[in-house]
Amino acid sequence: MTKLLSVGVDLGGHTISAALVETEGKDARILYRVDRDTPEGRDIQEVVDCIADMTAEVSHGRKIAYAGVGIPGFLDVSRRVITKLTNFSGLEDIAFLDHLGHALEKRGMSPLLAMENDANCFAVGEAFCGAAVGCKDFIVLTLGTGIGSGIFVNGSLVTGAHGMAGEAGHISISEHRDLRCGCGSTGHLETLASADHIERKAAREGLPGDFRSLWQIRDDKRAEVLISSALETMARGIASLIVVLDPEKIILSGGMSKAEGIAEELEARTLPWLPLPMRDHLSIEVSSLGADAGLYGAASISLLRR
Ligand SMILES: [Zn+2]
Repeated sequence: MTKLLSVGVDLGGHTISAALVETEGKDARILYRVDRDTPEGRDIQEVVDCIADMTAEVSHGRKIAYAGVGIPGFLDVSRRVITKLTNFSGLEDIAFLDHLGHALEKRGMSPLLAMENDANCFAVGEAFCGAAVGCKDFIVLTLGTGIGSGIFVNGSLVTGAHGMAGEAGHISISEHRDLRCGCGSTGHLETLASADHIERKAAREGLPGDFRSLWQIRDDKRAEVLISSALETMARGIASLIVVLDPEKIILSGGMSKAEGIAEELEARTLPWLPLPMRDHLSIEVSSLGADAGLYGAASISLLRR
């Protein structure tokens, strides 16, 4: 069977990751991986040069057929322009893939390029070689600084009429207009249930300022109240997704998913919000690929669109 080489890139507000992925039939594996700090000024040329250098580095001079980039925000329907980054700014309304293509050409590389919302890349990765292999209907939730989601319905990634579908972090969940969200609106799920929200609130109360430490001390009443409130809100968001989409499973990814027992905790909290006939089918599990799902997904986005 033919072996195919592609590069997957995950562009984050703090870190950029790139991996060389070898695909052979239904098997995929990461051969090399590098991580670098995202250029501070987020100047387009600096960012695409950094990604192009990393692509060259992981490729080790081998010919790359495809390269894909996961973007933490909204993309236009053509998937060539970033419309809005939700947790940092500086790269919007620029033909990002054209700039990246030029930067790669200067380094002697001309892979077929694609970009996709980062949570969508996680969903593609899980479908390709992770917890969603064999599933036609599932939702991946990336629980970290913000809350992202990637949705498959009937075996296809849902992107919507304008390319912006599957943004579960921006479900309206609170009537409070003062809860400003990174998307420019208010009262969304990620303003009340993201790690960023929990950590900022914990720091204000003199508790450990990172979610995993907080999770470990959840016997402490103050930590428990804080975590409970966020997970309860998240459970209502998950129940809303389930009643609309009736997925086979919900897959948790991102930093918060590493907290031991969080899938079971969210299952218990989601169950009471579901209609009775749907309760038997509730299934929430943690990703088997972790952060690599985003890289596998980015590397295979072009394959999905061939
Ligand atoms: Zn929002």
